[in-house]
Amino acid sequence: MHPRRAIAPPGVSCLDPGIAEAMNSSRHLRVPAHGHGPGIDRKALWVVSELGLPAIVRSCVSCRSARHHPTGKVRVNANHKLLDVWLLICCDRCGRTSKIPVHERVNVRALDNERLRLFENNDPAVVRQLTMDATLARRAGHQLDWTGTWQLDTDLPFYDLQDADAAPLEVVVRFELPAPVRVEKLLTAGFGLSRPALRGMVDSGRIRLPLPVGARAREDLTFLVVAPPRSPGDVGSRPGGGGPVEGGGGRRGSGPAVSSSDEG
Ligand SMILES: [Zn+2]
Repeated sequence: MHPRRAIAPPGVSCLDPGIAEAMNSSRHLRVPAHGHGPGIDRKALWVVSELGLPAIVRSCVSCRSARHHPTGKVRVNANHKLLDVWLLICCDRCGRTSKIPVHERVNVRALDNERLRLFENNDPAVVRQLTMDATLARRAGHQLDWTGTWQLDTDLPFYDLQDADAAPLEVVVRFELPAPVRVEKLLTAGFGLSRPALRGMVDSGRIRLPLPVGARAREDLTFLVVAPPRSPGDVGSRPGGGGPVEGGGGRRGSGPAVSSSDEG
């Protein structure tokens, strides 16, 4: 019984629904331990949307480049009952094709038939999944470079964090791809806050996160913005007529807020 589906703005995903579903099947929405209490009636959806696949970083034997991208093909080689499966990748600079072992000498019966069929058909969702697979990367000894693979789209029309009367807000962050993004970066970009202002809000408990602000997230999460604590001197009107009083400033609103090209 979740109202979440209702908050997804139309057309926010640039992914083919089938691919998105294939991606999402292995993930679960993470919710802060305290859940969403009563009184949270404002919700926002932020999407780490996909711009492209990560580069596969490993040295090319023909040139000095290290960046590769998948060719879109998977090679399956059967030798009696033993199978080899490779993801084919291509050097960005010289175009040389090389192979990343996905399965080596595995008994044909150990592989799910449907999975094998997807390999043999160069299924795009499988190619995409293998390309982003951190476990495969570790095993095969290459790195993934996520630069330029995502941008943050926010759906946050009128929410002034610095307004003392702002209603509590629940923000669902949905990842279309498992790009590692620092939580702090997500939030400074999403709210248009400076780092110190954001840290202040986290420290004061106004922003409640399911993981540390310095951690990297790579899957869906939900966080809360609760009403600011009121000090006695805070009651009544603010001096100066209610302008922004916390640090930070910067942009707010909707639209692409930040992209992964900023991140090293
Ligand atoms: Zn090369």
